[in-house]
Amino acid sequence: LSHDLTIRNIGELPVVPPGPVPGRRMRDVPLIPHAALVVRDGRIAWFGPEADLPRSGIAPVADEAVCDAAGGCVIPGLIDCHTHTVFAGSREREFVQRIEGRSYAEIAESGGGIRVTVDAVRAATLDQLVALARPRLARMLRGGVTTVEIKSGYGLSVEAELKMLQAIRRLADAATGAADMEIVATYLAAHTTPREFADRPDNYLATVFDEAVLARIRDEKLAEFCDVFTERTAFNVAQSRRVLLAAQRFGMTPKLHADQITQIGASRLAGEVAAASADHLEHIDDAGIAAMKQSGAVAVLLPACSFFLGVAQAPARRMLDADLPVAVATDYNPGSSMVESLPLTMAIACTQMRMTPTEVLVAATANAAAALRRADRLGAIAVGHQADLVVLDVPGHTRWLYEPGRSCVRTVIKRGRIVSEA
Ligand SMILES: [Zn+2]
Repeated sequence: LSHDLTIRNIGELPVVPPGPVPGRRMRDVPLIPHAALVVRDGRIAWFGPEADLPRSGIAPVADEAVCDAAGGCVIPGLIDCHTHTVFAGSREREFVQRIEGRSYAEIAESGGGIRVTVDAVRAATLDQLVALARPRLARMLRGGVTTVEIKSGYGLSVEAELKMLQAIRRLADAATGAADMEIVATYLAAHTTPREFADRPDNYLATVFDEAVLARIRDEKLAEFCDVFTERTAFNVAQSRRVLLAAQRFGMTPKLHADQITQIGASRLAGEVAAASADHLEHIDDAGIAAMKQSGAVAVLLPACSFFLGVAQAPARRMLDADLPVAVATDYNPGSSMVESLPLTMAIACTQMRMTPTEVLVAATANAAAALRRADRLGAIAVGHQADLVVLDVPGHTRWLYEPGRSCVRTVIKRGRIVSEA
């Protein structure tokens, strides 16, 4: 199949620069009206005003595809850089309990919470986990997501965590998985301490961060990143530091669930261990912002999670004003963010975090790519970048986010090839 393509009749082309884009520059994206874009061998070879196309110097290719954008906006393929898309079971009972005003502790006492998902994932086979995730990923692709990160963290035993990573691996494999999407795996065994290790978190961590386990993850290329839930109710800063550094020695890049419920210094740790990103940050403080700025960690905000739980959003404007590169992701998971739509999440970032549509576009493309250490290749409209693109049926990206309830995605392109058409 050809990876050569010309997109004509583009109403507006926002020239998203390669990430990481610092916060104060995220609103300055040049817009080219009446544009065209040429793809050669799966990469962006030229873009500009359509009137300049004949003088572009790009040689025609006999069997290249031509896509008529029909006046629609073309954006980089969306990147969901924080999800828990591999899971089993449902937590709808807890959803209702929370609406009725039950506390986190009451829900846990009545048998709800993460243990519901852990039990379901442990009971599921590898094939079942893959089969459950596949249609979720197919819907995400139709919504314009061309790259997605997926975490383990619902197995909470060596065997079940490896089963989750193998499920992600199988989904990432073009032959057996969610073809056409790039899938990135993260080891999140340090999500919470499982029941059988109650009050013995260090013993639990010793099993899932045993050197033989980490060596197997490295040798079988099962995870690029290691994530930890650093929180009063999960793992403290010393435990988090220890496991992230251990994983780093086996080739995994650190990430953190940081400052979500309380402030215990997690975002500062992100700076200290040179994490690719610190995610959540609802309770980030000035010291955390300073540490992240110094280390270059991306601030990944998860507005659909606060929306789903009905709690306050992370202080996005403070981080943008401090010039941190900010990304936005769904945190898609059955407990706290049963929201698989990145476009809806982006619209929530606009209205609830007061991020402009242009800032949000950069957050879900260039800066999300940076959070996954792929900014040199993905997430931008730049010559040489991979041609992962989305054609919208509206003339501009602002108009798109102004209509959160409707999918405005017409065509999804991966490496210059059309992979979804509405
Ligand atoms: Zn998460």
